[in-house]
Amino acid sequence: MTATAPREEQLWSRCAGCASLLYRKRLRRNLDVCPECGEHARLAAPERLRQLVDPGTLRPLPDELPETDPIDFVDVLPYSHRLSAARASTGLAEAVVCATATIGGHPAVLAVMDFRFLGGSLGCAVGELITRAAERALDDRIPLILVTASGGARMQEGTLSLMQMATVSQAIAALREAGLLTVSVLTDPTYGGVAASFATNTDLVLAESGARMGFAGPRVIRQVTGRALPEGFQTADVLLRHGQVDMVVQRRSLRGRLGALLAATSPTRAGRPTVPRQEPAPLREHLADAAPALPADPTPPTTPGAPAVRDAWDTVRMARHPGRPTTLDYLDSVFDGFVELHGDRLGGDCPAIVGGVARLADRHVMVIGHQKGHTTAELVARNFGMASPAGHRKALRLMRLAARLGLPVVTLVDTPGADPGVSAEEQGQAAAIAENILTLTVLPTPVLAVITGEGGSGGALALAVADRVLMLENAVYSVISPEGCAAILWPDRSAAPQAARALRLTAPDLCRLGVVDEVVPEPSTAAHDNPAETAHRLRAALLANLLPLLDVPPAMLVRLRRQRFRRFGSTRAGVRAGAR
Ligand SMILES: [Zn+2]
Repeated sequence: MTATAPREEQLWSRCAGCASLLYRKRLRRNLDVCPECGEHARLAAPERLRQLVDPGTLRPLPDELPETDPIDFVDVLPYSHRLSAARASTGLAEAVVCATATIGGHPAVLAVMDFRFLGGSLGCAVGELITRAAERALDDRIPLILVTASGGARMQEGTLSLMQMATVSQAIAALREAGLLTVSVLTDPTYGGVAASFATNTDLVLAESGARMGFAGPRVIRQVTGRALPEGFQTADVLLRHGQVDMVVQRRSLRGRLGALLAATSPTRAGRPTVPRQEPAPLREHLADAAPALPADPTPPTTPGAPAVRDAWDTVRMARHPGRPTTLDYLDSVFDGFVELHGDRLGGDCPAIVGGVARLADRHVMVIGHQKGHTTAELVARNFGMASPAGHRKALRLMRLAARLGLPVVTLVDTPGADPGVSAEEQGQAAAIAENILTLTVLPTPVLAVITGEGGSGGALALAVADRVLMLENAVYSVISPEGCAAILWPDRSAAPQAARALRLTAPDLCRLGVVDEVVPEPSTAAHDNPAETAHRLRAALLANLLPLLDVPPAMLVRLRRQRFRRFGSTRAGVRAGAR
């Protein structure tokens, strides 16, 4: 209230852990760790970089990117206003800062997220910058270190931000293939789409002391389960006990520990032969042959006899209709001879995911899908189609088996999202989703995904990183549920219909954005009014999209799949133009 107040605030700060009043300079000298209680305060990305790398070695990577508002999102404020405010208050271009540097004399590329910038959320620009950092590491043949701090995917960029989980994961996959180390350092907090992708599908996962990491946040889990959470839930020490991280590291030891890991894995010292980087095969020559696998034209096909454009919120309700055909219904009507395979071989068999071998017009395929149900009893038995880590690991097992047997994979996606529960988190929900996303980016067999009902965030993407992504006309695919989005960005959940419109989650919208390749028209009323006709149309669409993929050599297939997901970060201008 007085003129000296701002100055006082700069000199002193109050510890969030023990409420001690601390002298700022002393706190900074102590790396922003409270000398009284050991609380690790959140760090801005530039300060984090300064603490982690050898002095004088930091070389920032370019961060200029075109303006990003790919879906013209407006809640109570236009997204562009929120972006400008974040830039002004942080002095950063985006929620990540990337650089090259040495740590203990070992070169590395670093990408450090900044929670102050829109909650460190993962949008197209953040995904693009981290992907470029990974590509730089690949070019220079040096390790990649990711320091995460994020609430998850950025709602204001809709499903395009969900796609970034795949884009960054495939860049990490490329480093894996090249034998280059990837390390993530979890800092507080790391949640949602970031936790369920590059924070946990790196070779090594370190957690800074006091960091919390999870797929679903504690507030959501409390709401869903109605129970108090266990002591220390999702904190670094508990994550270590549950096998989710390699180590918990105090901030003052972080640089030394990273240096030791880089030293141990540096090719020359470990005696590992330096593999010359594989030159990519001349891709362009093959593109013409493989054209069906690379959708060049994002324009949705006209659907003869289709009803007038439905409101997004009506579509959401249609997608959730309990009468809508489920995966088991389609296995009966679209496919023949389904033989279900069970189990993750690690101790569980999740009923929310069904999978097995089947025939599609006399071709053998591996089908994996979320299973909901039509009655309350069925829905409860199937956990409403919300997969647990065991479900994601069963899917992973079947994907790998399919690749080994040379079977194409067809996935049917219909889930509100992954299971938001205590045991799901303790069993590594985030890492299970992250591993599936990464595995799909390397799977040497055709993958065809269909969003048949609800495509809910990371749980949906865990089955939907595919060569071709189809979507039933009244299905939805979104980074967050409209209710969840409304609860965060609007005054209350009753704004869900507005959120549904703003999120661009319908099939025609996603086709325009290039997230979906083809809309499968439903009968004039809806899928559940004429399941037989819906099955007939789905079968025709599956065959039309699958057959051209069967002739593409596996390595080319993987390359084209990666191109498909790489463009979501880098060609925003084109996507934006297409959205108009
Ligand atoms: Zn303290």
